[in-house]
Amino acid sequence: MEHAERRSSRLSGTFAPWLVAILVVGIAVLARALATPLVGQQSPFLIFVPAVLLVMVLGGRYPALFAGIISLVAGFAFAGERSWASPGGIVQALLFVLVCWGIGAIGARLAGQQAQADNHKRAAQVEAARATAAGEELQLLLEGASSYAIFMVNPDGVVTTWNAGAERILGWNADEIIGQSCSRFYPGDEAAGGKLSADLELALTTGRLREETWKIRKDGSEFLADVTITPLRHANGDLRGCGTVIHDVTDRRAAERNLERRERHLESILATVPDAMVVIDEQGVMISFSAAAERLFGYEEADVIGRNVSMLMPNPDRDAHDGYLRRYLDTGVPRIIGTGRIVTGRRADGSTFPMKLSVGEALTDEQRLFTGFVQDLTERNEFEAKLEEMKSELIHVSRLSAMGTMASTLAHELNQPLTAIASYGEAAATVIEQPGEESRDLLREIVTDMKAQSLRAGAIVRRLRDFVSRGKTAKSVEDLPRIITEAAALALVGSREKGISAQFTVDPKATPVLVDRVQIQQVLINLMRNAMEAMEHSPERKLTVTTAPGDGDSVLVSVADTGPGIAPEVRERLFEAFASTKSDGMGLGLSICRTIIEAHGGRIKAGSTEAGGTSFQFTLMRPPAETTR
Ligand code: ADP
Repeated sequence: MEHAERRSSRLSGTFAPWLVAILVVGIAVLARALATPLVGQQSPFLIFVPAVLLVMVLGGRYPALFAGIISLVAGFAFAGERSWASPGGIVQALLFVLVCWGIGAIGARLAGQQAQADNHKRAAQVEAARATAAGEELQLLLEGASSYAIFMVNPDGVVTTWNAGAERILGWNADEIIGQSCSRFYPGDEAAGGKLSADLELALTTGRLREETWKIRKDGSEFLADVTITPLRHANGDLRGCGTVIHDVTDRRAAERNLERRERHLESILATVPDAMVVIDEQGVMISFSAAAERLFGYEEADVIGRNVSMLMPNPDRDAHDGYLRRYLDTGVPRIIGTGRIVTGRRADGSTFPMKLSVGEALTDEQRLFTGFVQDLTERNEFEAKLEEMKSELIHVSRLSAMGTMASTLAHELNQPLTAIASYGEAAATVIEQPGEESRDLLREIVTDMKAQSLRAGAIVRRLRDFVSRGKTAKSVEDLPRIITEAAALALVGSREKGISAQFTVDPKATPVLVDRVQIQQVLINLMRNAMEAMEHSPERKLTVTTAPGDGDSVLVSVADTGPGIAPEVRERLFEAFASTKSDGMGLGLSICRTIIEAHGGRIKAGSTEAGGTSFQFTLMRPPAETTR
């Protein structure tokens, strides 16, 4: 329906000028016909000139051309028969054509000018609409920028425009402030000192003024403002005023200062904290290195920032560290994060040292950071080694002093029977020279006394041995693995430094035992230290302590080493007192061990291992059934 209407209007629009042409020429023909009785065949084309002109005005060039053609035909008709062949007729027709052409040319020119004028008008309208839209958009923007005060001042500093942000930040509304000087935004001393004109002047000469300064609100309160003043000129270069943009940065500055203060605080902590601190990112690249870390590793912070943290560790960790990190990032299963570990560090000079490493993880929006706190254990290790050395010396000294006491007691106690035996021997030597029954009886008596004295000497030695093994034992039900672990802690002091590894294989069925804990530990310590001493020059240094259920109610303990085995010269007398191959050895350790083990109702023996080392084995008794219940 709408479509049909549009088509009909187009048709009418198309045909109307031509109809006008026909109508106008028709009227001219009618008028000329009416005038013919008066003028005859005179000036047959004249009346058609205004007709063509009218069509030109009403319908445009082409309908006017059309009107001219039909007018020419009509003109010839009014000129009478054969007029088109007469010279007068042709001249008149030519004149008419010329006039029509002139009308067409003028019409065309007028139409062109009209079109141009229309174009200009249209362009001006478009431009005006665009300018209005831009103006509205700008206004909208200015109003929307509520966190910025945006206003114009004239060259004298009087406010001419004012946005919503200005009202919000400075407190005045547009009605109150437009027409007022903006010097009222300046603090008292600055306003009095003419800072406003100085600012405008500076903005004019430099093209733009930007500064951070204090400004005053309507209520008199001050705020820190980021101010930008830009001069605005007319097209002819005359100053129109200045555009001013003010942003309240009080809170931002306060936050920045707070952050700065906290950063400095953190820096001071990091500079003083005794633990070295190293921060790395997900790739293991160091991004912070504390003063203590500089001292510990011997690198300057600038040397390590941006480099991989693996440079601070020796191999195998050095090559594997990236893999450790990747594995954690992939699996999320921490190995070291959140727990402390003893690892080895590497200094700038290539030397290594034991360190305790504790790693914490921090997750920020942009990245994941790992902070490592490093404690140097070198000094602690040295201290511990010293302590252990002292302890082992103490064992040795206490053993020596016990032996010394025993030796002097032995000497003292044995002196009597031995002197007696010597005297009896001397007497016997004299008596044996004398013949006769009497002297033989005497000799028998002397030998009997000698035997009694020898037995007494033997009893003294036995009593002393009992004394060394602390006489009466105070037995209780004990957990064998625990006894071994405690004894090993003392005996194995310094073993790692000597390259000795220890292995404990305890059978859960070989416990508990009924023992004097301290005495059995003394036995274990003796055996373990002997083993360690024996392995001092061996290529392989492995100490093995094993427990197993023994025959009947017994439990079997063995202490084996990879040393050279028992020296032949002591093999036969191993468990006897004073049998030693060591320059500073007393040769009493094994004899005391045997005394203690036998006092516990057990047996001790030495054997050799397949690899040629020594293996000491002893038995202990399980507690009677009712004790364990
Ligand atoms: P000491 O250790 O003071 O010499 P011991 O009675 O403990 O006294 O040891 C006696 C000797 O037995 C030692 O000097 C040593 O020759 C030998 N011996 C002990 N244990 C071992 C062992 N595990 N390997 C080789 N020889 C050993």
